[in-house]
Amino acid sequence: MPPVRIAIVGSGFAGFECARRLSKLLRRHGSNAVVTLISPVDYLLYTPLLPEVAGGATDPRFATVPLNDRLPGVQLIRAYVDSVDLSQRSLRCRDQENMTHELSWDRLVLTPGSISRLFDIPGLAEHGRGLKSTAQALFLRDHIIEQFELARIDENRERAAARKTIVVVGSSYSGTELIAQLCAMASVAVHDFGFEPGDVRLILVERSGRLMPELGPELAARTEQVLKRRGVQFLTGVTLSRVAADHVILTDGTRIGTYTVAWVAGVVASPLIAATGLPTVKGRLKVGSDLRVPGFDGVFAGGDAAAVPDVTKPNAITPPTAQHATRQGKVLARNVAASLGYGSAREYRHRDLGTVVDLGPGFAVANPLNIQLSGFAAKFVTRLYHLYAIPRNANRWAVALGYLTNILFVRPLVSIGFAQPSWARFSASEEFMPAPSAMQPLDEQMYADDLRYQEASDRAAAPSQSD
Ligand SMILES: Cc1cc2nc3c(=O)[nH]c(=O)nc-3n(C[C@H](O)[C@H](O)[C@H](O)COP(=O)(O)OP(=O)(O)OC[C@H]3O[C@@H](n4cnc5c(N)ncnc54)[C@H](O)[C@@H]3O)c2cc1C
Repeated sequence: MPPVRIAIVGSGFAGFECARRLSKLLRRHGSNAVVTLISPVDYLLYTPLLPEVAGGATDPRFATVPLNDRLPGVQLIRAYVDSVDLSQRSLRCRDQENMTHELSWDRLVLTPGSISRLFDIPGLAEHGRGLKSTAQALFLRDHIIEQFELARIDENRERAAARKTIVVVGSSYSGTELIAQLCAMASVAVHDFGFEPGDVRLILVERSGRLMPELGPELAARTEQVLKRRGVQFLTGVTLSRVAADHVILTDGTRIGTYTVAWVAGVVASPLIAATGLPTVKGRLKVGSDLRVPGFDGVFAGGDAAAVPDVTKPNAITPPTAQHATRQGKVLARNVAASLGYGSAREYRHRDLGTVVDLGPGFAVANPLNIQLSGFAAKFVTRLYHLYAIPRNANRWAVALGYLTNILFVRPLVSIGFAQPSWARFSASEEFMPAPSAMQPLDEQMYADDLRYQEASDRAAAPSQSD
């Protein structure tokens, strides 16, 4: 019998965990099935550390977990999956040189995650930057430092003020963590660059008017209080209506001079999901509580890309978090193995254990098992949780040393200069490999890619017939 071929798409929390568990399970059962993981990157990105990377507090290498090292026995293909043929049981993917490859599978696990949700805001795709990749986090850090340097020598006062103004849009935990880290970076800049206190403006824009809805009103209020004391300005009930290179216009007509716009205002499922033509719920692939795609034997999905029923709450789907994606990865491994006759399948059932939010020096909020914590206690829990959750000892060690270094020394404000603005565009991020257009001039290609991204984001966010 030829070996069964299992293809896993995406090396995020769900895909990584599924590949790791599944290869172990198959080995234990003496199976010769081949597990192949296809992803445009050769690592698992531990996204909760991205705000710290952007704020210059953590080295990006330690937010990434190498697949080669952590997934022995798994065949790794570095490529982007463009399409899946469910009737022929095959998929097409593109490598870094845009060569197309076709792969057959007997079992398919779709875990391609999500992309930033852009909405139709003129100038956003061109001038805004997200926080979904190490390139984007590094770019933000380098760009902000470069703007501070330019502000120091800019003789035009209005322009200099705009260079020292940072706008973050979206106040879920990731947006709030980002502004807290940038705030810590700004306070070092005030000292190192000789700015006056209050010279650096940090503005958090949130349309819904609610800060971190994941954490409840009490911790949100405490966070707002601390961030306001640190100089963050909150603009609620508005969002961006236009973005230009040197300013943004809000929906209430306010103009803010700025050269830095970070867009952390929600995600939509990977465009691959819409490309499959399968039924979706809120743009995410419809799956059963056993993570199988109904009607397609041998096809499974999980993580941000899938609408996994939350069996602990009626008519709800699990939120797009790493906590759920990792645990879904485990169930995916078990159920794929069960479909091959090894062990038994089970449904995905997980009650949220709570959220931890690191908010810069000396402060965090957390609600583990519904216990409301803030300040140092929350900071301790938050750091301990991340050290436990990063799935590699060398990363744990390095991140812990980084935490210690940040306690003992001031964080360095250097722009290393490798972060190209073009690599940090939404359309160049790792979950959305640009289309093959190597022959086009760069500007034209970037414009075409931005359009593709915008269309994919709109398409995924629009309610489909199956929603
Ligand atoms: C800044 C930030 C901070 C966050 N902080 C937290 C936190 O503190 N706690 C928490 O629980 N959650 C957090 N999240 C959310 C969490 O990152 C996601 O819910 C989680 O990553 C989802 O896991 P996933 O495996 O579904 O997708 P992802 O982790 O996004 O992985 C998707 C993978 O698929 C790959 N891929 C995409 N498209 C394709 C394709 N077509 N072909 C092949 N491969 C593809 C990508 O490159 C990636 O490797 C944060 C997110 C961000 C952006």
